[in-house]
Amino acid sequence: MREILVIGGGAAGMMAAYAAARPGYHVILLEKNEKLGKKLFITGKGRCNVTNAADMETLFANVCTNGKFLYSAFYGFDNQAVMALLEQAGCPLKTERGERVFPVSDHSSDVIGAFRRMLQKRGVELRFHTEVKHIVWEAAEPPGKGRIRGVELHGGQRLYADAVIVCTGGLSYASTGATGDGMRFARETGHRLTPCRPSLVPLETAQDWCRELMGLSLKNVELRLVSGKRELYREQGELLFTHFGVSGPLVLTASCYLGRAFAGKDKPEPESAKLYLDLKPALTEEQLDRRVLRDFEEQQNKRFKNALAGLFPAKLIPVMVMLSDIDGEKRVNEITRQERRSFVALIKNLPLTVKGTRSYAEAIITQGGVSVKDINPSTMESKLVSGLYFAGEVLDLDAHTGGFNLQIAWSTGHLAGESAADGACL
Ligand SMILES: Cc1cc2nc3c(=O)[nH]c(=O)nc-3n(C[C@H](O)[C@H](O)[C@H](O)COP(=O)(O)OP(=O)(O)OC[C@H]3O[C@@H](n4cnc5c(N)ncnc54)[C@H](O)[C@@H]3O)c2cc1C
Repeated sequence: MREILVIGGGAAGMMAAYAAARPGYHVILLEKNEKLGKKLFITGKGRCNVTNAADMETLFANVCTNGKFLYSAFYGFDNQAVMALLEQAGCPLKTERGERVFPVSDHSSDVIGAFRRMLQKRGVELRFHTEVKHIVWEAAEPPGKGRIRGVELHGGQRLYADAVIVCTGGLSYASTGATGDGMRFARETGHRLTPCRPSLVPLETAQDWCRELMGLSLKNVELRLVSGKRELYREQGELLFTHFGVSGPLVLTASCYLGRAFAGKDKPEPESAKLYLDLKPALTEEQLDRRVLRDFEEQQNKRFKNALAGLFPAKLIPVMVMLSDIDGEKRVNEITRQERRSFVALIKNLPLTVKGTRSYAEAIITQGGVSVKDINPSTMESKLVSGLYFAGEVLDLDAHTGGFNLQIAWSTGHLAGESAADGACL
């Protein structure tokens, strides 16, 4: 009987164990929590956006880091394969706006339940409250490719195996069990790590006025993320002001690109990235100027601060007046052309300075991790230790929201499981 150990019972680990479990193989899934899928349970606000039903081109377009590395994993086990597997296992799915796929029941627990049944059916042994402390391996003499031997558990017990698959996740939402152990395992076995940072995460800004707008959500704005002269991201959508800065779908996605502003540095350099908000993206600067002029002509005798209700939600007006060069008490008919033009420019380019991201406790995903340079993309096997595999968020892979991150976990987990079983029979 060939032995395969999977470390971590999250999305990638459950899929890897499922794919590795074939007749003649004994697969043990080692999970330090008391149950499977603690993070999966909270995904999609408890509904679990299991994948995205879009075409392959869209899947790749939504991967933020190391998309090319995922070629074999995505083509080998794609979104359709995940959906078919879950439906066969008794978890019917539905597709919503933006091709986001959820269980019909809207309960993430049904996805976990489906995996529990699949793992049981394939005879995978589940060991809970079992924390792996170290990878046991044999370094090659003379230096070359080492060989896996097994794992050492908390307490010192060793389990020996033909293959070990590390699916321990990243660093975000540590309360679910993702505490970066897999990255330590990788380092201890000689692998390179790409510096980690929180991603899909709200951003802290230097401007105090964001606090005054706390709770205000702007539905159709354009956000640009700029570092020096480089534009890193530009998109239209929804943005939310908070007591520390900005959040909402647009900001979470923009945060994926923040890493590029800090490339090569472990810690974000404060204030090296700026956000610019276009509050009226449907209008060009000329069109907006004509619109503002019309508004002003209709309200000639009003004070500036009282003449903006047609342009902004009430909460935003005092802030826009404060940020403009125009005295709020000034009569609209006294505003000069120059003042109006610079106000229009402000509406089209409201600047915010990024101080940093919120912490891992608020980050949907970890950017960085085990460098894909040390992993074979066709198998997920380490290039340094034969029989050692990595899958899921522990790797330096991440994507936008919309089901793409779980697809990375499913696809890499499946490829690692299949390859580990193939490799273990050699
Ligand atoms: C709030 C939130 C919502 C999200 N929503 C979505 C969504 O709707 N759609 C989407 O695509 N993505 C979503 N994501 C991202 C998605 O959850 C992750 O990409 C995915 O869970 C990664 O899977 P994984 O198996 O690699 O890691 P994890 O799911 O983190 O699993 C890792 C497992 O390893 C175990 N483990 C760690 N160290 C050890 C050890 N030493 N010994 C034994 N066990 C260990 C942990 O306890 C854990 O169970 C969300 C993330 C968060 C935080």
